[in-house]
Amino acid sequence: MAGAGLSCAVIARELAEAGHRITVLEKRLHVAGNCHTERDPRSGVLVHVYGPHIFHTDDEEVWNLVNRYVTFRPYVNRVKATTGGRVFSLPINLLTINQFFGKTFSPSEARAFIESRADRSITEPKSFEEQALRFIGPELYEAFFKGYTLKQWEVDPKRLPASILKRLPVRFNYDDNYFFHRFQGMPEEGYTPLVQRLLDHPNITVHLGEGLAAADVARFDHVYWSGPLDGYYGFDEGRLPYRTLDFERFEGEGDIQGCAVMNYTDASVPYTRITEHKHFAPWESHERSVCYREFSRHCGPEDIPYYPVHLTEGDALLQRYQARARNERGVTFVGRLGTYRYMDMDVTIRAALDVARAALAG
Ligand code: UDP
Repeated sequence: MAGAGLSCAVIARELAEAGHRITVLEKRLHVAGNCHTERDPRSGVLVHVYGPHIFHTDDEEVWNLVNRYVTFRPYVNRVKATTGGRVFSLPINLLTINQFFGKTFSPSEARAFIESRADRSITEPKSFEEQALRFIGPELYEAFFKGYTLKQWEVDPKRLPASILKRLPVRFNYDDNYFFHRFQGMPEEGYTPLVQRLLDHPNITVHLGEGLAAADVARFDHVYWSGPLDGYYGFDEGRLPYRTLDFERFEGEGDIQGCAVMNYTDASVPYTRITEHKHFAPWESHERSVCYREFSRHCGPEDIPYYPVHLTEGDALLQRYQARARNERGVTFVGRLGTYRYMDMDVTIRAALDVARAALAG
């Protein structure tokens, strides 16, 4: 396995239980990839080191799997947004609409009002912007999505796919749960113990601080590659675009912002959001608090890739790498970076289970 994130950990476990001997090579000094969590030594707060991760899924098998390894606590992600000097509730819901427009709409009134603001000439929204203008209208789009999206992706929302916006619900009631899924929670001790326990099997050996070079793939019967797809090929066709994140850490006493995630949706504020980590574990109590201010930027060669950047016009470079990947025999590309997909943790686990089962079946 090249990498010790969720994808490789799940595949390693499935294959190890079927009797295969697995070597996991991870170039970082910890497992769990970008969902790694660790305790801040001074405050004791559990920190989502690479940004906020909330587990949510409709996939019962995936939910049962993660609950076999660690204890999940109920957690509902409720995000707030600051725009124009005021604070609103996200995702867009009846409270957001009523407060933003200074109204007291009922659900059906709000629905009719938003529909009257929407651009109904857009019948099949393809881009992020068309999706927004069709379903929430220009005012809410400008206030909550345009600036944040420009900061997050540095691409005109006309060139981003509608699927990015479809991650977020719009609700005409007061439900402010960020996700639609049936199951949602936080691992009591963070995500790193989940990955450690997945990897804790007599047939699995983990080497930290040791990456796998593509040239060494032939040493193994089969390699599961969860590093960047273009990195496997030494970037010989050019670099696929990724976004990376920078976190500016600050701390203080008590409760700094009153919630786990506050988005800053105006383009004039340089960061996208502030995460106050202690609120991800409301069952714990800490006197001090740790916050991360999150900045998104183009991912350079030395940076950690976080988000693949897909554009509506398609990507010939990606298609060339994907065509080569399909023809590989001893290598399977997995995970967010290996498949160049914007996947949530549950989708990552589902995809990994499918890959492992296909390997065992075939
Ligand atoms: N988004 C936005 N404003 C917000 C929150 C999200 O414009 O307040 C857009 C932005 O383009 C972002 C996308 O919706 O990249 C998906 O948001 P999500 O919260 O799912 O992003 P993640 O937590 O995965 O970074």
